[in-house]
Amino acid sequence: MKAFTYERAKDARGAAQAAARPGAKFLAGGTNLLDLMKIEVETPTHLIDVQDLGFDKIEKTAEGGLRIGALVTNTDLAADERVRRDYSVLTRAIVAGASGQLRNKASTAGNLLQRTRCPYFYDTNMACNKRKPGSGCAAIGGYSRQLGLIGVSDKCIATFPGDMAVAMRVLDAYVETIDPAGQRRAIPMADFHRLWGDHPEQDTVLKSGELITAVTLPKPIGGKHFYEKVRDRASYAYALVSVAAVIQPDGTGRVAFGGVAPRPWRVEAAEALLPQGAAAVTARAFQGATPTKDNAFKLPLATRALASVIAQSKA
Ligand SMILES: Cc1cc2nc3c(=O)[nH]c(=O)nc-3n(C[C@H](O)[C@H](O)[C@H](O)COP(=O)(O)OP(=O)(O)OC[C@H]3O[C@@H](n4cnc5c(N)ncnc54)[C@H](O)[C@@H]3O)c2cc1C
Ligand code: SF4
Repeated sequence: MKAFTYERAKDARGAAQAAARPGAKFLAGGTNLLDLMKIEVETPTHLIDVQDLGFDKIEKTAEGGLRIGALVTNTDLAADERVRRDYSVLTRAIVAGASGQLRNKASTAGNLLQRTRCPYFYDTNMACNKRKPGSGCAAIGGYSRQLGLIGVSDKCIATFPGDMAVAMRVLDAYVETIDPAGQRRAIPMADFHRLWGDHPEQDTVLKSGELITAVTLPKPIGGKHFYEKVRDRASYAYALVSVAAVIQPDGTGRVAFGGVAPRPWRVEAAEALLPQGAAAVTARAFQGATPTKDNAFKLPLATRALASVIAQSKA
């Protein structure tokens, strides 16, 4: 691991200003960042620990939704009584991820910013545009079973690997931030993770030093909530394909897919086809997909996972 300096931030704007300096990064639970530092995929020279900033509460908003502090742990968020009652797709997605110990440390902001699990990204001997811009992409033409098939580019075919964000996309959440100038903004989850295009090194639309302070959920939308995660092992594994869905009694609803794209993949024109069945939804949602020979199985898998959710919603 490369040497680095460390500070504990005392206020949000000061933290953002410190993080805007070259080589600086925020540290939350450390479950992703420290792993990447140990193998020198990430090499920050200065860490700004944000755990004393007080963003550890879940509060009601004036609009009837919930504001989740950036430092709320995955465990506390999944267990919150209001989340379990009104947003259970979120609880289901979180508990489908990682392990109990990891969820005790992992923060809401850190989870949104976890980096891809493409095996070549982790191997510093291999070409990877995301790790080292302009170096190439070993996954294209390489082993791509876990990788993406839509929203990808000729520079990178990795996926965003997380579960929680897929549920937040279905719930129309937005991410609240403060920048080094003290400006605040709310970024819809739909726009938060970037499609790779020519710049796969940029995972999100966050600017230099921009600190996530909270994630806000709009008021509850009712319906039955599901998170179906298909993976190689029954637990402690990332999604090959996941489906987050909220289905209403009349068969309409919302659907987003995980494990297939650089961001939680939700196509509103596709979910409008829910009453026609899973095949109609996925045909529209994955129009223009460019699967590799290794990951083409994800297309029928997505249809079957959604069909399972629709069947459960009718039970
Ligand atoms: C073995 C293993 C299995 C896992 N399995 C799953 C799984 O199945 N599903 C899943 O979804 N996840 C899984 N994870 C990922 C885990 O959920 C993430 O590591 C965790 O959520 C990251 O949160 P953290 O607080 O530890 O982030 P950190 O590691 O502290 O930070 C991650 C990134 O976020 C940045 N950051 C942190 N806080 C802020 C902030 N407030 N504002 C701006 N930037 C910030 C940091 O600079 C860093 O770049 C797994 C992890 C491991 C190690
Ligand atoms: S798919 Fe993306 S993360 Fe994986 S090797 Fe290619 S550029 Fe790197």
